[in-house]
Amino acid sequence: MQKPTMPQPFAAKSYAFTEYVNLKNWIGGAWKEGSSGNWLDIENPRHGKTMGKMTLSTAKDVDAAVEAAKKAFPAWRATPMRERAQVLFRLKALMERDLDELCWLVSHENGKTYAEGKGDVEKGIECVEFAASLHMMADGGQLDVSRGVNCRVTHEPLGVVAGIVPFNFPVMVPMWMAPNAIMAGNAFILKPSEVVPYGAMKLAALFQEAGLPDGIFNVVNGQRECVEAIVDHADIKAVGFVGSTKVAKILYARGAATGKRMLCLGSAKNHVVVVPDADVQLTSTNIVASSYGCAGQRCMASSLMVAVGDVQKIIDGIADNVRKIRLGEDMGSIISGASRERILKYIEDAQKAGAKVLVDGRGQNVDGAGGHWIGPTVLDNVTLDMPAGCEEIFGPVLSIVHTKTLEEAINLQHKSLYANGAAIFTTSGAVARTAADRLEAGMVGINVGVPVPREPFSFGGFNSSKFGHGDITGWDGFRFWSRPKKVTEKWAAASDASWMS
Ligand code: NAD
Repeated sequence: MQKPTMPQPFAAKSYAFTEYVNLKNWIGGAWKEGSSGNWLDIENPRHGKTMGKMTLSTAKDVDAAVEAAKKAFPAWRATPMRERAQVLFRLKALMERDLDELCWLVSHENGKTYAEGKGDVEKGIECVEFAASLHMMADGGQLDVSRGVNCRVTHEPLGVVAGIVPFNFPVMVPMWMAPNAIMAGNAFILKPSEVVPYGAMKLAALFQEAGLPDGIFNVVNGQRECVEAIVDHADIKAVGFVGSTKVAKILYARGAATGKRMLCLGSAKNHVVVVPDADVQLTSTNIVASSYGCAGQRCMASSLMVAVGDVQKIIDGIADNVRKIRLGEDMGSIISGASRERILKYIEDAQKAGAKVLVDGRGQNVDGAGGHWIGPTVLDNVTLDMPAGCEEIFGPVLSIVHTKTLEEAINLQHKSLYANGAAIFTTSGAVARTAADRLEAGMVGINVGVPVPREPFSFGGFNSSKFGHGDITGWDGFRFWSRPKKVTEKWAAASDASWMS
């Protein structure tokens, strides 16, 4: 096994501010400075202080990564899948070995709590497990279609492929893509979020330690220029993107125009429908966990509750549970000062437009932490014409709208631009079934506030929450990063047998 190149382990064992290294690109198995000569501050959002700097890349650095990936690709493509899987088995063991370090790193760069950082890393490990199993599941893709004639399908890698990811899950979202892409035999280039690049850096070192050949996993750090260079690059065959709808939509069209395979996941406004027969305890605790986990900075957060009829007991239960959340312990910080301002504006505008602030998180801070904080907030009597009722807030704010009937609630959900997740809370099987059938969302929860499918079930929304075909994880992910080749062969001795005989 090769020696790791990781500059130094991240030493933090608590939320106390900890400085870290300056971060370069990872290209062809070496750390390289970006060609812009510029560096970006990486802020610990809990403390609002710079923990290190990140090199900024240009199209030249993307080119260098593509060249390194192209060089490494032929040998990796020729490596049997079973051998590729061994690298992922080792990677899983290494991620588990360094779990604590990874969790603290994610917590410090993103502002999540340690427990939420652990959720990020553990879901990343689950994605590695799925990809590492792929060679065991690739059966049945052949058939004797007529006498002496056999058809089979093989899944070939595409070549050099890339992933562009958001700030909210620094380990999990890269691992939605990289393990499947690499297991399929591709060489992968990751463009992490410039706000949280350290998780990817640690992954690069672990991939190398796991024995992945240099050039198969590369990291290019940067912003828009770097993303556009990836999307435009003629030698990058597929791009997976996860981020806001605004960017997803533009990149999807831009990449597709070059003939690339594109899959771009976007923003969300997840509706959670609550009917009067719902269990008070289960519903209120689930909704609170869903709305305020990761300070609401989750594309699967339930951000809009649709209260059907009289569900006041559940609303009271939610408000009670929200008041118990300890800022800084149970809930982390907001990613940046700009995000904090944006979220506050949603609350203020809703209040001005007539919404009732049931629980007010404005002005809440964590003593001595500095950083960007908003306490959990509940807005009641929100309407769809308020920005809080129809736009993605991406913060610790639950908006409650009221309808008289389930039918009205479902029709209201259908009006949403986004359709990532939706949920229903009920004790009635018939209501649950109706909602599951009719809610317009890629992922639906029944008495589950965060209906993120566990592997091997795939992740992806509908409508403006996703541009492109298929989902980003599970079998869909593997298919996105590969192309099916159908081989028809005839070895029959009889010369008069045709392929139809
Ligand atoms: P973002 O769109 O600002 O950034 C995502 C990536 O795009 C980053 O790597 C960034 O460098 C790049 N980028 C930003 N602006 C760009 C531009 N103008 N041109 C080219 N590239 C650009 O998203 P974010 O703020 O990092 O993440 C939050 C968003 O991501 C939310 O909308 C959230 O719902 C969404 N998200 C969606 C999913 C999903 O599965 N659907 C998962 C996680 C996050």
